[in-house]
Amino acid sequence: MKYAVLDNYVNGENINVQGKQLDVYSPLDGSLISKVPLSSAKDIDLAVQAASKAVPQWAAMTLKERVQIFFRYRQILEKNCDELVSLVSEENGKTRGEALAEVEKSIELVEFACSLPQIAAGEIEIVSPGVECRTERFPVGIVACITPFNFPVMVPHWSMPCAVALGNAMILKPSEQTPISANRIAEMLAEAGLPKGLFNVVHGDTVAVEAICDHPGIDAVSFVGSTRVAKIVYKRASSNLKRVLALGGAKNHLIVLPDAHLEMTASDVAASMTGCAGQRCMAASVMVGVGDVDHIIDLLCEKARGIIPGVNLGSIISRQAVERIEGYITQAEEQGAKILVDGRAAKVEGCEDGYYVGPTIIDNVTPDMKVATEEIFGPVLTILRTNSLDEALAIENRSNYGNAAAVFTQSGGLARYVADNASAGMIGVNIGVPVPREPFSFGGWNESRFGVGDITGKSSIEFWTKLQKITSKWNPEAKTNWMS
Ligand code: NAD
Repeated sequence: MKYAVLDNYVNGENINVQGKQLDVYSPLDGSLISKVPLSSAKDIDLAVQAASKAVPQWAAMTLKERVQIFFRYRQILEKNCDELVSLVSEENGKTRGEALAEVEKSIELVEFACSLPQIAAGEIEIVSPGVECRTERFPVGIVACITPFNFPVMVPHWSMPCAVALGNAMILKPSEQTPISANRIAEMLAEAGLPKGLFNVVHGDTVAVEAICDHPGIDAVSFVGSTRVAKIVYKRASSNLKRVLALGGAKNHLIVLPDAHLEMTASDVAASMTGCAGQRCMAASVMVGVGDVDHIIDLLCEKARGIIPGVNLGSIISRQAVERIEGYITQAEEQGAKILVDGRAAKVEGCEDGYYVGPTIIDNVTPDMKVATEEIFGPVLTILRTNSLDEALAIENRSNYGNAAAVFTQSGGLARYVADNASAGMIGVNIGVPVPREPFSFGGWNESRFGVGDITGKSSIEFWTKLQKITSKWNPEAKTNWMS
């Protein structure tokens, strides 16, 4: 085993957890690399106690002072970038290039947190003669962050830098499938000078998540994962009167018009469906071809055939996930769909026990097939065909999800029409993975997000703080009734 059994990280210390553990495998070659403990409600409580001791002093500091830690943390991330890239690649199965992009995006999120003093200032206005109203932001208190397997470093950074810089103490419950880098993040924050108790890592599964939702000492919860679990967490934590933002799954539609730029469209769609082996909530899942787009599909298939597992395509998180993805492909085939590129039974020489699915493109798909409606979360693209843009938009609108949608065209007017009529929170125009860069915020619509606001950008300031409104009058001679 390359890494020791993981500890929780609470109050600045590694805490050995008694009880059940899960094996952690590297999807690259199926080797056992660590074991992760399954924490109980008691372990969550221990972290809440540590956080509650640490938070008053932290919250009393100025935002300008608090972000100094994150300036140092940013440098530490850069210094340890190579190590983090290796860790992400090992535990998640990404290519090194993809893991590097993940770490770089995390650094960008830290930079946004460093800029908070510039953008989180309160407001002031003279509302009556001699009377002023002003607002001040206060941290929410003790907050938790529950994350999925697909971005073990970046998704915690959607929440942690802003939440902690704004004066909160955080408990991170990482995915039990990719738990290792969370402990490294904690160590690096400590090296940057973050006082103990302000960032705690508690490993586990459903039991730990339920304990977070139920603990009366936790004030706010951010969740990122599947829609099924997002609904559970949103309902349970908000019924316990917590502030909750829960991001769910996705089924992103790419609408391709016949006038789309051939080379750019084929490359972009291929990259969108295969990047991170399709395990991205922003990945292309359905391509809706409007009219004659055969020339684009031909080139897309050629590009997809050049994306090779173990070379420029990473692995799938688990053996069960490979079976699920291949099951979808086989079912579509049995229902009459045509497999243009078939990634089933992929093998990588020297990594025969790794988990891989090659790029797969399925044509002749009908809107009622499961591959057209359910999240597959693998490098699989299904193609639906329509004769009009409105029909294509109707297909997109029918999806329960609404994370991203994209249009490929050279017509500005048609691109605008798609942006106006698609039911998704993030729109790409000739961009297959329309992730907004900071300071633009990240978040979907419909069943891709429960709660108010986005998880990054200015929305995160609202989510991680509470607003105080102060109305004052200091000149008794100004006989002003404040309402006047
Ligand atoms: P998941 O929902 O299985 O797990 C997410 C977290 O929830 C993990 O920490 C896990 O331990 C916990 N969990 C799992 N089952 C639970 C249960 N029954 N009760 C309470 N907690 C539970 O998701 P995953 O497979 O790790 O990640 C993939 C999913 O995440 C995909 O659906 C993907 O679209 C989604 N995702 C969404 C976004 C977004 O921004 N919308 C970003 C990344 C990933």
